[in-house]
Amino acid sequence: MKDGIHPEYHQAKVICNCGNEFVTGSTKKEIHVEVCSKCHPFYTGQQKATAARGRIDKFNRKYGIKAE
Ligand SMILES: [Zn+2]
Repeated sequence: MKDGIHPEYHQAKVICNCGNEFVTGSTKKEIHVEVCSKCHPFYTGQQKATAARGRIDKFNRKYGIKAE
């Protein structure tokens, strides 16, 4: 076993541009990110898609259209 092969492993504090902070395992002590799971367009976009789906269902019910 040689020393110095494996980098030191820390509990890294991840700080997002949106202000959200969380902890993850990393070789770095602190990580700054532009997007996280709270503000990433994939997640916020999914919420919008769900809302749009609800409006379509309401429309279909109003006009007696069966969604299949
Ligand atoms: Zn964020």
